[in-house]
Order: sequence, then structure tokens, then C-alpha cells
Amino acid sequence: MAAGLASVIIFCMAAPPSQALVLSFEDARRVVDEHAGQVSPGVAETLNLLDAASRVLAERIIADRDIPPFRRSTRDGYAVRASDLAKLPATLKVIGEIKAGPLPGKVLPTLSPGETFSIMTGAPVPQGADAVVMVEYTSEEGGLVEIAKGATPAENIVARGAEAKGGELLLGPGARLSEAAIGLAASVGRSQVKVFVRPRVAILTTGDEIVAIDAEPGPAQIRNSNTYSLAVQVQQAGGDPVLLPIAPDEPRRLRQLIEEGLRCDLLIMTGGVSMGRYDLVEQVLESLQAEFFFTGAKIQPGKPVVFGRCKSGAGTPAHGAASDSVPHKNSHTYFFGLPGNPVSTMVTFELFARPMLEALAGMRPQPCAFLHAQLRSEIHVKMGLTRFLPAVLSGNYERSQVELVPWQGSGDMAARARANCYIVIPPDREQIPAGEWVAVMLR
Ligand code: AMP
Ligand code: MG
Repeated sequence: MAAGLASVIIFCMAAPPSQALVLSFEDARRVVDEHAGQVSPGVAETLNLLDAASRVLAERIIADRDIPPFRRSTRDGYAVRASDLAKLPATLKVIGEIKAGPLPGKVLPTLSPGETFSIMTGAPVPQGADAVVMVEYTSEEGGLVEIAKGATPAENIVARGAEAKGGELLLGPGARLSEAAIGLAASVGRSQVKVFVRPRVAILTTGDEIVAIDAEPGPAQIRNSNTYSLAVQVQQAGGDPVLLPIAPDEPRRLRQLIEEGLRCDLLIMTGGVSMGRYDLVEQVLESLQAEFFFTGAKIQPGKPVVFGRCKSGAGTPAHGAASDSVPHKNSHTYFFGLPGNPVSTMVTFELFARPMLEALAGMRPQPCAFLHAQLRSEIHVKMGLTRFLPAVLSGNYERSQVELVPWQGSGDMAARARANCYIVIPPDREQIPAGEWVAVMLR
């Protein structure tokens, strides 16, 4: 009782951030991008190549030799001197075969005028040859080949070093190791690579009505789904989620858990950032001398989203679940207060938390670019907010189509789960007719 009273007195003095800072979607995103540009990733670790898939490279990958290392035929056919095919059909003498793999005698053979080698895809082109004619245009008999089609110099040949010269930079720090990047690293013999450690991202859900997913919820209680959807988003964006206990709408415990979260590399909170009497997240952050960069964005869903930072080590000394985290390299810990409605949580993570998390993971900044698809049925909305509405992308091949999923608003997780994208509607549009090409955010 006494402790409860004390916390009420302490927190009645804390005002919410003095001025509401509600930005347009683009301005809010720009602010996040600017701060993301200032943070440093953690230390590097060396991993076996396959364990590094999807991680962020922390070193340079250099071509260890020219790529390709020899003049490579890109076709099965005949290596020729293009000038021998001036008059068609031309008949050339077949003086041997070159297949992919070690050369007999380890010496590249030479071609003289009037001669040809039969050659396979991936094999080195003999000296003197300047083109390869596809086997489809030839017929060979008794050591001679008749060629029905001319060739231009360099046709069906990739020059030595055309893809990269030995010593050239192939991948640099900040590259996400996609399948293409992993393949490229493999091609230059890198069985191990250095990647940045994953940033630890604290996930803190707030609300007196929220219960653990394995508890039996009372009639007015809600299972904690946001921690789980966020953990997946954090992992997919390259972070290591640290799941904190559910915070009640009570300032003392909330403050303890926020302090614990601030010991990670990034703190993501959900719930408690709206205008309700028990939305205490901003007040508690203010009591920790937080700086706020915005306390809302003109978007739907997700308008009450909060972004700010606290000096590293804000609050009381470390103890508890997150206290074993690596010491901060950055002078501040950034935080996001995401609205608690599950679809708002997912959208605001994607729009704002993801770029900060990717920066902490060491990734180079990625553009916030949308794809386009043709709208299947008309949309009516109120103007003034940029909307990210759950939708289904369908259609075939180059005829992509998109349609809103019927939903009950930003709490409707079931509708979000039926969707596979969001339609992005700019704030100055009220009505969009069927057939118009609209912006689509995948994920
Ligand atoms: P709030 O942002 O705290 O006002 O919460 C908005 C809505 O989201 C309320 O209906 C909450 O019950 C719901 N909500 C908040 N946190 C969660 C959570 N972790 N999982 C599921 N629903 C939540
Ligand atoms: Mg709440």
C-alpha cells in the first residue's frame, strides 16, 4: 500500500512529453533513418559459411583470382576464328575436343586458320579462337564440321576477369549474406566469414489485461501475442530477441522493466503509448530523461508510435534477465513504443523499428521502396493519414493484382494473417478506383 502510494506521487509529477510530436510518415521515417545512420554495430564473430546465411558481413570479400579464371565458353559447340566464317556454309577441320575440367597436358591448345575444336560449356576457349558457334548450327562428319551460321568476335565467350579481376572487392561490410552473396563467397574459397554479432533487442509488452500465452485467460484478459509476432520480426530483421516479462500498467514495475530493456541494444515496447489514463510508457521514459524524436505518426494503423532514446546506462544498476548483455558501444539506447493493437504493432515495427535494428546489425541502409499492383476493387478512406492496410496480392506472372482484406481494424490479427501484404494509401487520396496501380508493401 505504502509503496503503491509512493509510486503514484513520484509519477504524478512526471508529465508526458511536453509537446506531442506527430510527424508525417515520410518525416518520421527520415528521422529514424538519420539516427540509424549514427549507430554502430557490435563486434564481429567468425562463422562457417552456411551458419552465416542471412547475417551481415563484417569484412571485405575479395576475388582471389580473376573471375572467370580463363576465357570461358558459354555454349556447347565449336571454337572458331570468326573470320573463318565469312563465307557460309563454312567447313573447318576438327582437331580435337575441349571439355570443362583439367586440360590434357595442362596446356591451352592453339587454333590455326581453317581449324576448330569442339568445345563444351564451361571449358576454356583455345588460343587463336575468338568465338564459339552453338552446336545447333553445325554438322560434323569424318573429322570435318560444316557451320551454317556466322559468328561475331567474342560471341559465346566470357573474357578472363570479365566478372571480377583478382583482388577486386566483391562484398563489403554491411552486406546481408543472401544466397547470392553466400554463393559468391563460396566461389572465392571462403569457408568461413566474419559477421557482426546480432544486436540484442528487448521486447517489452505492457498492459494489465495481458497474460502469458500458456495461462488460462479470464473473461477480460488478452493473451500476449505481440511479444511473439515481434520476436519473429526481430529475428527476421537480424536481431536476437530478449523477451522481458509482461509489464503491468503500474509505473514502478514498468520502470524496472524499461530499465532492464534499456540494457539491450534496442528496446521495443508495445502498448501503453496511447492517450488512455493508464498509458504510462512515455511518462516512465520521461522520468528516465529520455529524448523523444516523435510521439506519433500520421499513419493508420499505428498512429501513437513513439521513437526516442535514453543515455546508455540510464536508470539503476544492472540486474535480472538482460544484465548479461555485451556493454554498449553506442552512447544511447534507442527505443520504440509501438501501439498495442497487434496489427499496429506489426506495421510500426516494419516501418520504423526495422531500419534501426538493421543498422544496429551492421547492415547498409536499405531503401523504403514499395512495389505496385493493380487494384481489384475500389477503396474509400478518409484523407489525412498514410494507410497500410492488410491486403492480398494475387494474379499471375506480370499481371499482379491486389485487394484489401475485410478487417475489423488494427486489432484484427486474423485478417492480418489472411493477408500477404499491405496496400499503401497516401494521405491525399480518398477514393481509389479499381484498376489503378497502387503501392504495395510486402511483409
Ligand atoms: P494499448 O496500446 O495499450 O492501448 O493497447 C491497444 C490494444 O491492444 C488493447 O486492446 C490491448 O489489449 C491490445 N494489446 C496490447 N498489448 C497486447 C499484446 N501484447 N498482445 C495482444 N494484444 C495486445
Ligand atoms: Mg495498454
